[in-house]
Amino acid sequence: MGASFIHGPDVNNPVVKLNHQFNLPIADTDYTGWLAVRENDSVPYNETSVEAAAVKMNTAFKAVEHLSSDLEKDISVHSALRQVNQYQLIEDPLSQTFLAEHEFFFGDTVDTLSTKYLYDGYLESLLGNRRAISVLKDRPELSDGSSSTYPPGPGSHGVDVQEDKRVVIKCRNGQNYEADAVIVTLPLGVLKTNDVKFTPGLSTKKKGAIKRVGFGTVNKLVLEFNQQFWPNDTHHITVAKRDNAERGKFSILSSFQPIVHKPVIVTYAVSQIGEESETLSDAELKDIALSRLRTAFGTSIDNATIVNLSRTNWKNDRFSRGSYSFPALGIKAGDWEALGEAEPPLFFAGEHTQAKQYGTVLSAIETGRRAAAAVETYLKSDIAASVNVSYILIPAVNQDGRFGLGLI
Ligand SMILES: Cc1cc2nc3c(=O)[nH]c(=O)nc-3n(C[C@H](O)[C@H](O)[C@H](O)COP(=O)(O)OP(=O)(O)OC[C@H]3O[C@@H](n4cnc5c(N)ncnc54)[C@H](O)[C@@H]3O)c2cc1C
Repeated sequence: MGASFIHGPDVNNPVVKLNHQFNLPIADTDYTGWLAVRENDSVPYNETSVEAAAVKMNTAFKAVEHLSSDLEKDISVHSALRQVNQYQLIEDPLSQTFLAEHEFFFGDTVDTLSTKYLYDGYLESLLGNRRAISVLKDRPELSDGSSSTYPPGPGSHGVDVQEDKRVVIKCRNGQNYEADAVIVTLPLGVLKTNDVKFTPGLSTKKKGAIKRVGFGTVNKLVLEFNQQFWPNDTHHITVAKRDNAERGKFSILSSFQPIVHKPVIVTYAVSQIGEESETLSDAELKDIALSRLRTAFGTSIDNATIVNLSRTNWKNDRFSRGSYSFPALGIKAGDWEALGEAEPPLFFAGEHTQAKQYGTVLSAIETGRRAAAAVETYLKSDIAASVNVSYILIPAVNQDGRFGLGLI
């Protein structure tokens, strides 16, 4: 219910390698097959208009990228689009659906995205490769035959580094774990809440970065129908909203039929709208999604019923507090690096701990390996050699059975 796409799936991508290792079913997707309709009259846009809107959006973002290198003071991407006279050009509802797609990638709106730190090949690295994206079909079964669905763990609420440099992790159920080194993979959203108290406190630099780097909300709604009422070659449906402020509200819907071979639609809510979606009942979410689909497919949906509904509530999940990190307005140079910097015996990993490909599983894996190597070096060092070395792996699990890289 979180990540499902492998970005840049070439043979050297560690996610692809893991995928092969565990023999997980994947399917290649492409981003053809867009059906874009107008909300007010259900009229589909023709292919030329859709392409023109996509080009307009890319041109607008290129202009912002160009501006970013000259900026002394950071501004939001929204302000930057206005400064380069592009916002007016993309204000039409169709272009706004492409803007919604960009915002889905970053997990927040252009009002909060930093212009100065947005780029660095990030979009190219994700969007540039999307034609060859692959998708996980099922929950993976681990090599020992167990499933990745663990019962909810107690969660930690304290990490104490003692004078002798040993670390005590305090869990909510009263259990303590001791170790010589710990890799902290807590999501940035959790670090922001101070739910887990570090004693002594983390460095000022890291605390500043935790505050400044953004952590957005993207929620998914997955609907399985009793029958498929959309064409096989329609992979994405987008409803161009009259009200641009609602562009992130389940207005992009993807068919997962080519992947799961069932009539499944997945749709998304982003940022503030994503957070608000968590207060809605299943019935209310269904109504919104069905109204989008009715706009696109008219009465052909009348005989379809929803047989399964799954939803996420990432903002309210106390083990996540959001979805993934992004460069928020106010971020400073070196903030991503600071998030990943080791403070021995504490080491840090997770999607948010490097400036490259943040917000992805790829980044979580790469930083996990980086931290594991650093721990190894640390434990082999003179300081650690004098003590009886141990390190621990605590399954870090939330209510959905998601599990992280390991420690804490
Ligand atoms: C809706 C959505 C769609 C996404 N789509 C994609 C995609 O298509 N492709 C892609 O590459 N990435 C995608 N991502 C991002 C990707 O899922 C994350 O970047 C990645 O999972 C982050 O891994 P992590 O190990 O840093 O954090 P997590 O996977 O969040 O792991 C952190 C772990 O810490 C645990 N934890 C939290 N607090 C505590 C505590 N107090 N005590 C103990 N344990 C705790 C959590 O339960 C969790 O298991 C998506 C994310 C979302 C939400």
